[in-house]
Formats: sequence, C-alpha cells, structure tokens
Amino acid sequence: MIDSMPRKIAVILAMAATAFAQQRPAARNFDAEIRAAQQAAKTAAGDEFLGSLVRTCFLPQSGGENTTDTLPNYVTNPASAPARATWFAEPAKVFDNLYFVGGKIHSSWALTTSEGIILIDTIFPYNSEELIEGGLRKLGLDPKDIKYVLISHAHSDHIGGAEMLQTRYGAKVVMGAADWDTVATYPNRYKTMAPKRNIVATDGMQIKLGGSTVTIWLTPGHTPGTLSYTFTVLDRGKPLNVAYSGGTAFNFVNNTPDPGIRNFQTYIDSQRHMAEKAAGATVILSNHSEFDNAYNKNRMLAGRSDGPHPYEVGADMVQRYFKVLESCARAAQIALEQKQAGR
Ligand SMILES: [Zn+2]
Repeated sequence: MIDSMPRKIAVILAMAATAFAQQRPAARNFDAEIRAAQQAAKTAAGDEFLGSLVRTCFLPQSGGENTTDTLPNYVTNPASAPARATWFAEPAKVFDNLYFVGGKIHSSWALTTSEGIILIDTIFPYNSEELIEGGLRKLGLDPKDIKYVLISHAHSDHIGGAEMLQTRYGAKVVMGAADWDTVATYPNRYKTMAPKRNIVATDGMQIKLGGSTVTIWLTPGHTPGTLSYTFTVLDRGKPLNVAYSGGTAFNFVNNTPDPGIRNFQTYIDSQRHMAEKAAGATVILSNHSEFDNAYNKNRMLAGRSDGPHPYEVGADMVQRYFKVLESCARAAQIALEQKQAGR
C-alpha cells in the first residue's frame, strides 16, 4: 500500500500526457509531403508525359479564373491574330476512323462514322476555318458531314470554331452545363464563338452516330463544365480504346486556401473518375500537343511503316497520365494546406 499514492499520480500523469498527445498531433512536414507528391508525379510521367508534368507540377500557375468580359483582340482586329507560321500544322489520318485537324499547339479531332463526323474541339476563331474545314478537305473528308461538335471546355482555344460549324453545317454542339452558362455570361469574350445551346452533357451520356459511340465523362476542375471522353478507334482494323482528357492546367482559383483547396479536390476527384473510366484504354488524347505530343506523333506516324502506332502507349501509361495530374494537383493542394496552417 505504501507506494500506491505515487503510482496513482504516475497513472494520472500518463493519462494526461496521452490526452495532450491526442490534442496535439505531430506537426506535418508540408515540404516533405509536397516533394513526395511531386516525386510520385515524376515517376508516373516517365519520359512520356513531360509536358503534362512540367505544366502542372513545376511551371507557375495562373492566378485564377477569368471573370472579365473583354472582346479578344483577334476578333476586333483579325490582323492581330498570331502569325500563321506559329500555329499551322498539316492534318493527318491518325487511325482508320480518327483524323487530326488541329494546329501545332491546339488540337481538333474528327471521328468518322458511316453517318457523318463527330468533331472534338474546334481551336480558335482565327484558325478553325483553315485547320478544320481546310484540313478535312485535304484529307478527302467533307465538313458538311460534321453532325456533332463536342467542346471539352469553353476556353477560346477550343470553342473558337463551334459557332461557325453550327451555323454553316447545322452541327449539334455538346458542352457541359456550367460552360454553357459561362458562354452566356460573357457575350463579348465569346463574340463569334458562342454556339446556340444544343446539348447539355451529363456523366455517362453517349453520343452515337453511324455505329460509333463517344461516352462523355464530367471532369470538372480546369473549368466547372470540363468534359472528357472514352471511345474506340480502329488501327488497321484493330480496335483500340481511347481516353480523351479534356482539361489540364490549374486555371481556377488556386492561390488561396479558400476556395483553392476545394478546387484542387474537385480536380483530383475528376482525375480519379476519369482514370476509372479509362481502364483498358491504351491511347491517351488531349486538346493540346503539350500534353499528348500529338504534333510530334503525327510526324512519327508518317514514318511508321510496320512499326508500333506512336499513339498506342498501353493501358499502364494511360493510367499514369491521370496519376501525373492527380499527384501534381495534390502537391499544389498541400502547399495551400501549408498556407492555411500559417507555416
Ligand atoms: Zn482551357
């Protein structure tokens, strides 16, 4: 009995210490967490996705979303559009039923079917006529056959030709609800680029034409209405599954914890959603050559002969593409958590 009192005190002290430890978890090492997320992105990127890695992990991010309603210079004064030599690229037949009609930097894709063309993304107003209409004609296709225009998101480098193609050919334009609203909200910004609202995309919606199906996946993040797709192409008769990533850089409000942390979570969730829907896809496509190397791959394709298709990177690499974006977004999100913690 003689030592019961000190033992009681020791027990009470131990309990107090435990309670204290539970209230004050070990401090997070934010810098180490950021480095680990960036390393995960580097490992996933390998030498295949360096453009996506650099853009989302290491280049400075834009300050946030554009909320101005300003007429673009190239609309008011077409002579101010970038010089043709900076954007012109030859069109290319990439698969039996998929054609590239984009430029050096931005892409547009034509999926051909027995009942017409599904066009994915439309570049700028100043070059969509030459690249898309001109490109299709050079490849022996007819722009009049465009039945659907899918806009991955309402930025002027992808929606630029949508109004023109809708007006000239009666093509039905498909876009995410929030991005339709953005176009309606900023009439000056979208002058000459504002198609009438035809089809509001929903998650899992199927656009069917002539035996082909493009399935739409909602991947908000880059813009609130960003769309991604899965569809099948044929390579010399062999079916290949394609994952199309519709928005990449972090040009949402990303520099303050509120709403940045939440915005990055939306983006991360979208990458996971798309990675799941892309299971089995062996081809990854995007709307910027920076992310899928389309411009260079088209040149490689011209010398393919009996070699492998340069776009067929395999199912593992397609999954790794989404891992790069997810990990870089996580690194940026941790940096905002650090800011929020005041450290
Ligand atoms: Zn964009």
